[in-house]
Amino acid sequence: MPGLDSDAPSAAATPACPACLKISLNAATERYGKYELFDCAACGLQFWEPRAMPDASWYEQMYGGRDEKLLPLEPGHRYFLTDELAPRRGDLLDIGCGTGNFLAAARNAGYSVSGTELDRNAAQFAKEKLGLPRVHGLTVSEFAKQHPVEKFDVVSFFEVLEHQTAPAEFLENVKSLLRPRGYIALSVPNRERWLTGPDVLDYPPNHFLRWNATALRSFLNAHGFETLSVKEQPADIRHTAQMINMGLRTGLTGKAAGNAVASFRDVMQMPVAEAAAALQAKPTARQRAVQFLGRLKHAACYPMAIAAYPYIRMRGYKGTYLYFLARLLE
Ligand SMILES: [Zn+2]
Repeated sequence: MPGLDSDAPSAAATPACPACLKISLNAATERYGKYELFDCAACGLQFWEPRAMPDASWYEQMYGGRDEKLLPLEPGHRYFLTDELAPRRGDLLDIGCGTGNFLAAARNAGYSVSGTELDRNAAQFAKEKLGLPRVHGLTVSEFAKQHPVEKFDVVSFFEVLEHQTAPAEFLENVKSLLRPRGYIALSVPNRERWLTGPDVLDYPPNHFLRWNATALRSFLNAHGFETLSVKEQPADIRHTAQMINMGLRTGLTGKAAGNAVASFRDVMQMPVAEAAAALQAKPTARQRAVQFLGRLKHAACYPMAIAAYPYIRMRGYKGTYLYFLARLLE
């Protein structure tokens, strides 16, 4: 059968865009390890190939430490809670709710809240420490299957969409949980943010998709949503200091520390056991000295950032968060 000819180009050679499903790609624009970054000419999404989402234990390992404490609200959370176009009450489901910081704030603001979280430590924290009983250790598709009649006025997913391998399927699952004319609220890292070097978290298998406002709007629209609010966080002083710090990287710290210091970007691609060893290894005295100098250098960037900030603001440099509020058309 022609369709099964093993000499035919493989699907991986001409990947389809995971958002709009069209095969209309610009050549790979970046390579990292076994991964290639493509750019969809039809909808503007950038996505990595191949895509395979790690299991829950991977996230527990990589994000360990973040999952047992109450983190401050992120900009996306605050944009939603102050968004004049968002409904002010109703049933809200937060996908990937972490330790429940946003859920607790939404509950205080008057929503009836539920959440999903695959990291077991984070889910337990949300339940026991924040008194949020309706936090489920399920993926969105598992939740939809196990709660077929439960529907929500708002489904939120902050810093979740960039991790997805199949975003179209993910959004259809979200849709199935919404009441008619229901809302979604979300944020992703804005790929148009000001960067002076690679953002080590923004690589596979952690993130597979890179969005900007145009690609996100077209994606939501294709799935029956009307965009109500878009907010691109402007670069603030903290972001400016980080970018100055990153831009001043000379390679000296890497040399002084030897090969043992692995960046998070490299650790992510290691087999689980090797990554665990790298994450748990005690730093040598030399590495500790380098870390100390690194913190000193970062602190020294703040006065420079304050001096540079009027210029950064005038140029309209963008920060990390891209927030959307959208509503089902029917
Ligand atoms: Zn596309």
